Amino acid sequence: KVDLKIIIIGSLGVGKTSLLHQFVHKTFYEDYRTTLGASILSKHITVDNNPLKLQIWDTGGQERFRSMVSTFYKGSDGCMLAFDVTDRDSFESLDDWREDFLEKIIPTEQDFPMVVLGNKIDLKERQVPKETASSWCKEKDIPYFEVSAKNDINVVQAFETLARQALSR
Ligand code: GDP
Repeated sequence: KVDLKIIIIGSLGVGKTSLLHQFVHKTFYEDYRTTLGASILSKHITVDNNPLKLQIWDTGGQERFRSMVSTFYKGSDGCMLAFDVTDRDSFESLDDWREDFLEKIIPTEQDFPMVVLGNKIDLKERQVPKETASSWCKEKDIPYFEVSAKNDINVVQAFETLARQALSR
């Protein structure tokens, strides 16, 4: 069995913890409080007949503590970049998250397995058009998924796509 370490990063409040819980536990808590402190959840999946164990790291905002960063990023096999489609700023900061991650993983690789998740598509107050996000991703050759942790839309597909990329390296 292959073990893959996946990390999920993005601005506070975009729904990283919610996405993880939806994927791993098939639940969504409306009143989920943003947790300070990292959590690691694991899930067994099968992708293209390969049994995998995904170990998913949610940094819980600790990325602000510089010294923690390398511990989180170290040894990761794939990275999920998350933003909130109803929060323009969270999209604008994707590039910083990506650059910062690529800078810190060792060895640095420009084609590191990644997917981008535009979360909260169940909400009406969208600030980031689908086309804007997908063209940004296309430019960087990163698969883009419009997702909802709340309604469980495209969550599994995004994780599977990332796992498939990580496997094929
Ligand atoms: P994190 O800081 O990135 O881990 O974000 P959280 O998972 O703590 O979510 C922040 C807030 O957004 C919480 O109030 C969640 O209930 C809410 N939220 C997360 N995902 C969704 C979603 O897909 N749809 C809606 N409507 N709300 C969401």
